[in-house]
Amino acid sequence: MPVLRDFFIALSENQTLNKAAQKYGLKLGAQSVVAGTTIPEVIESIKELNAQGVSCTVNNIGEFVHDLEEATKAKEHILETIEALHENGVDAHISIKPSQLGLEIDFDFCYDNVMEIVGKANEYGIFVNLDQETYELLQPTYDLMDQVAQTYDNIGTVIQAYFFNAKEKTERYKDFRLRLVKGAYKESANVAYQDKIDIDLNFIELIEYHLLNGKFTSIATHDHNVVNHVKQFVEDHGIPKDKFEFQMLYGFRKDLQEQLTAEGYQFCTYVPFGTDWYGYFMRRLAERPQNINLVTKQVFNKKTNTVIGLAAAAFILGRLSKRNKS
Ligand SMILES: Cc1cc2nc3c(=O)[nH]c(=O)nc-3n(C[C@H](O)[C@H](O)[C@H](O)COP(=O)(O)OP(=O)(O)OC[C@H]3O[C@@H](n4cnc5c(N)ncnc54)[C@H](O)[C@@H]3O)c2cc1C
Repeated sequence: MPVLRDFFIALSENQTLNKAAQKYGLKLGAQSVVAGTTIPEVIESIKELNAQGVSCTVNNIGEFVHDLEEATKAKEHILETIEALHENGVDAHISIKPSQLGLEIDFDFCYDNVMEIVGKANEYGIFVNLDQETYELLQPTYDLMDQVAQTYDNIGTVIQAYFFNAKEKTERYKDFRLRLVKGAYKESANVAYQDKIDIDLNFIELIEYHLLNGKFTSIATHDHNVVNHVKQFVEDHGIPKDKFEFQMLYGFRKDLQEQLTAEGYQFCTYVPFGTDWYGYFMRRLAERPQNINLVTKQVFNKKTNTVIGLAAAAFILGRLSKRNKS
């Protein structure tokens, strides 16, 4: 399984395949996990989820932002999305990825972009979540949040349980609304737990800590064992249902999403949209290669099978030649 995980993560970082996927768009069938390519389409998806009692966090997917112009375009698109959320009066907030807004290019430029977004969202009472990405961006993202939070309070971030410093960060940011996750990227053993059991145990510890001591907690997982543990924990400790919510990704475990909503838990679906779906989709396969079952028939036609087959062969050859060298 770790080889498959590495394989899909490598695919997620392949810019040529990303460009090709943009060209094919959602025609390949990625609509089962991506809620459209345009703002009107995503608004329709949100309305449908809202009608089922589900709140949403919306993400304009953006990968491989290399220059200020691309980052500025991404910011404009996010501002338009916020306007549309407000105009349509839907129950939704925004999730943004700092790399998409130029964090890897210029911190101050990215800070100005995030301030503009959080400021606009603040006018409409909309919350903004700073998604966490790779380890290199972890501290810069906390720095962004620290600075933006000096002006606005409608901001929060994510804690990835695989990092050794996750507990320390959960304690430091306990007065913020936090989304707690296991972590989606491949990280070094110098900074992150590698074994599932260690990650799961740390995840539970962070959830319990923030539920007892923190502001609002978003428990973002598809893991029914964690969900069941949380249900029991909140009951044992008398934690009210308005202090936390469960979050899952659009298109995943719909049965569980419906069940939790029917049981009266607050539920929020992470709704990604846009033409840049490819890297997002590959990371979902890296997390759980069986996810391919959800989408195989729709996504992989003859053409994409060939592209992915070639990429797989190149990846495996690369690993073998590395192994032979060492
Ligand atoms: C709303 C949301 C937001 C996120 N935001 C971020 C972020 O900002 N940064 C980041 O690094 N990561 C983020 N992630 C991804 C996260 O870090 C994990 O990589 C991802 O959620 C996989 O871990 P898991 O907790 O869902 O369970 P896993 O450890 O993947 O799965 C545990 C068990 O749950 C069951 N299971 C899982 N998925 C399914 C399924 N589809 N169908 C049936 N059974 C299943 C299986 O039994 C599996 O063994 C986010 C995830 C969610 C849900």
